[in-house]
Amino acid sequence: MSGQFVDKDGNGIEDVAEFYAAIDRASLTHRISAERPYIYTTMEVYDVENGIRGAGGLGVLAADTRRTAEALEIPFVMLTPFYHEERHQEMIDLVPKDTYEPRNPIDAGFEKVGEVVIKVESEDDATLEIHQKILGSTRFLTMNEPGFGALYVGDASDDHRLYQEVALGLGGYAALKMLGLKPAVIQLNETASTFAAVARLDELCRNGMGLYEAIVYVRKHTLYTNHTLLQAAEPEYTYAQFEKFVFPNLTSPALKHFIAGLFREGRLKLNSLTIEIAEAKNCVSRLHAKVIEVKDLSGERVDFKAITNGIDLNTWLMPEILEFYHDRGILDKFNMPGANFREVLEQIEAVDELRGIKRIGRAKLNEELTRRKNQYGEVVQIPDDAMLFEFKRRFVEYKRPWMPFEDMGEIRSILFESNAHYIMAGMMPGGVDAGDKTYDRLQVMLKNIDNDPFLKERVHYITDYDESLSFAMSAGSDISINVPEVGLEACGTSFMKDIGNLTMLISTNDGGVADVEPPAVFNVHGDSYSEEITSLYEQMRAAAAAMKDDNLWVGQVTKQLAAYLPIICGARMIRDYLRFLFKTEH
Ligand SMILES: *Cc1c(COP(=O)(O)O)cnc(C)c1O
Repeated sequence: MSGQFVDKDGNGIEDVAEFYAAIDRASLTHRISAERPYIYTTMEVYDVENGIRGAGGLGVLAADTRRTAEALEIPFVMLTPFYHEERHQEMIDLVPKDTYEPRNPIDAGFEKVGEVVIKVESEDDATLEIHQKILGSTRFLTMNEPGFGALYVGDASDDHRLYQEVALGLGGYAALKMLGLKPAVIQLNETASTFAAVARLDELCRNGMGLYEAIVYVRKHTLYTNHTLLQAAEPEYTYAQFEKFVFPNLTSPALKHFIAGLFREGRLKLNSLTIEIAEAKNCVSRLHAKVIEVKDLSGERVDFKAITNGIDLNTWLMPEILEFYHDRGILDKFNMPGANFREVLEQIEAVDELRGIKRIGRAKLNEELTRRKNQYGEVVQIPDDAMLFEFKRRFVEYKRPWMPFEDMGEIRSILFESNAHYIMAGMMPGGVDAGDKTYDRLQVMLKNIDNDPFLKERVHYITDYDESLSFAMSAGSDISINVPEVGLEACGTSFMKDIGNLTMLISTNDGGVADVEPPAVFNVHGDSYSEEITSLYEQMRAAAAAMKDDNLWVGQVTKQLAAYLPIICGARMIRDYLRFLFKTEH
């Protein structure tokens, strides 16, 4: 999927120096190198092509960051576990069921490069196998052992999760050292990866630096990226848990003492620790940075910079669309917006060409659907002449996947009047079962659909949602629905795939969508849930009408693009990270 960026004449970038110069950081060629790479640490990566399947947006963001770094030729190392179990979903008689498939790094094209040891108080040491895969200027460095367990297994504050976090951070850092790599900077994708920065502190202290000097140094070279809006859900650990899993792996008594001092009533939130050791902190959309309420241990509100997530355009945009953008100068050779992209978009008259590209998108979707099953275990195909609505998001409360089905009469008449189909996908979190609210709502929704002979033929819940289905749905649908409860979506990137692939978006004004004021999409709003539902149906009707009119349609898809293109570019996100971490030229 990923590869070199090229402009309309087929010219790629010469090397990364060109990108650094373009973002006013020419000196980065001296500050980031193959031996001193940009380190990115994350519990989750979603990169099926490279053999690692995650759970959701956090993992997709991580994968996109690496892919974009590869295309820009930035020296980059991703530290992440390689999980031996991969979760899938099937559905029989409308009842969802989790299945697990075994995975191993060798089959996924990784090579073993060594082992590192993690000590656990009064238990046997854990020996982590380190595997790597080199991809251009980037590499994956993964850790695992037979008892490591699956992604997000168990409770976030239990012993095993802390062990996994220690294995990622301290084990991953030891793996870097083993390969002779020294971090230029470390990006912590959520607090679960904070022990990589702790490992760096320990190393500096071990080499003779004073603790406070070491903290100043590590703070300056660490970026903490926060995706969490519900702080209540933050994991916290007891002192005893740290004594068991963390302290045995640290050598500096001063560092242990410092960490011990961060406990309050015998507990420590990883958030509190991370805030202390990372100076640069970012949230993943403007709204998120505005509403986040995080306090440090002295009770001060912590400042987070807004760096909105982007997507790797080479991965998520149809090649036919990318070519169109490059030909017209809408995108430049870094896959950033071209100098006059807004004027170009305003003057586009290529309705037939763009409609033709969307027909190719529909064919790609139908091709993907031949390998997929709906809620009845059957393969579905979407007729070429049907309009298509879509919803593709994890099946969790705040994303409200059931919202379009709150009034079965309304959804029926909208789909009927527009000769439309509706396709949806998205898994529930692992371990959710009958009796849980989301599980029960999924059941009610699917049964209501099943009880309606028309909707039963028109509404397709496709199981085992993943990246390739996500891409195909963006490419092949006409109208996408994104209705998170306002204030609860940190960013969301699915909507970016839709806008990039010329799919009209219906959305509440939340997450990254709210970066643009006023909204450039079909906006769902209201003071209550019932008002929002009414608004959603209005916007579905408005979008369906726009779909039937060439001028309205091209006007809408280019308006969305003009508003959001600078936001959705993965290269823009990396530019913002680099400028934030390296504030000045020297
Ligand atoms: C793009 C993508 C996501 C991101 O989802 P959001 O809800 O928009 O954050 C999650 N899962 C998969 C498989 C994706 O492809």
